[in-house]
Amino acid sequence: MTVEFSDIWAARANITKGAVRSPLVPSPFMSRIAGHDFFLKLETAQPIGAFKIRGATNALVNLPEGTAGVTCCSTGNHGRAVAYAAKALGLRAVVCMSSLVPVAKVDGIRALGAEVRIVGSSQDDAQAESSRLAREEGLMEVPPFDNARVIAGQGTIGIELLEDCPDLQTILVPLSGGGLAAGIALAAKQIKPGIRVIGVTMDRGAAMYQSIRAGKPVAVEEVPSLADSLGGGIGVDNRLTFAMCRDLLDDCVLVSEEEIYDAMQTLYYEDRMVAEGASVVGIAAVKAGRIGPIRGPVATILTGRNLDMTVFTDVVSGRSVTLGDKTIEGQAYVP
Ligand SMILES: *Cc1c(COP(=O)(O)O)cnc(C)c1O
Repeated sequence: MTVEFSDIWAARANITKGAVRSPLVPSPFMSRIAGHDFFLKLETAQPIGAFKIRGATNALVNLPEGTAGVTCCSTGNHGRAVAYAAKALGLRAVVCMSSLVPVAKVDGIRALGAEVRIVGSSQDDAQAESSRLAREEGLMEVPPFDNARVIAGQGTIGIELLEDCPDLQTILVPLSGGGLAAGIALAAKQIKPGIRVIGVTMDRGAAMYQSIRAGKPVAVEEVPSLADSLGGGIGVDNRLTFAMCRDLLDDCVLVSEEEIYDAMQTLYYEDRMVAEGASVVGIAAVKAGRIGPIRGPVATILTGRNLDMTVFTDVVSGRSVTLGDKTIEGQAYVP
């Protein structure tokens, strides 16, 4: 199983059943910092507030006739996307979660019309239940990133970016499991072979970065981060995204929690926009000077807006934020 450019092209037609074609807007402030036009791709404008609706819709549209329904075990943006896409297509969706998941998240997914199964007390227990439903009840499991249809769905962003800005020289992609980066890199390099595609992630628990360095998928300890949507492993038996990210990304860079904090403030005060920590790592990397020489227009993906509003208001108010063992010292925004 591989992903071809033609799969991404096909996904473009499929995803119109769930996703919108998001706007690409300039950021005057970041353009000054970068010395070239700097664009933001607003996946925050998707119906569930994140790009994952693209991959989920493409996976569900392609299910064989007569499929009983779908299942997954994500409590975050992927779970929301699967629930939403299933509803739009009239399919049954079961989202498996452990008893540790906060009630608000359970309610959020239920409100999108999915059945919620609470099982056990860890993500592994939830995963096991999702796999059991697939085996015993014939539900189709939809993985969050390591799946050809999901990667092709996320890759549609690469086509849209180059349609809207053919001069683009660099794309900065928030990186976790790598479905987004693999899809965008495949599409963008097919259309414009010389383009630079750089993965950006947080320096705490950077699974894909560590895996590329090790030359094979490795497990990393999951730690809390302002970029919570970038947490989690890539799977030690990763089939697609590891090889694609290793082969297609020009570079992979890390940003600190303090830099993510500053980038969330920057986006809010300079562009008047609200986005998750995971969304602003591209802004953080440019501000911190991690992106080598910038020689032309740059774009980054504002991947989602589903954040904890208490954390967000603390950040934009310059208050300290404590996440597990880590405290990010408060700092008022300095332009
Ligand atoms: C899932 C997600 C990412 C990372 O996508 P991958 O395909 O796992 O690399 C980035 N930002 C947000 C908001 C996400 O939900």
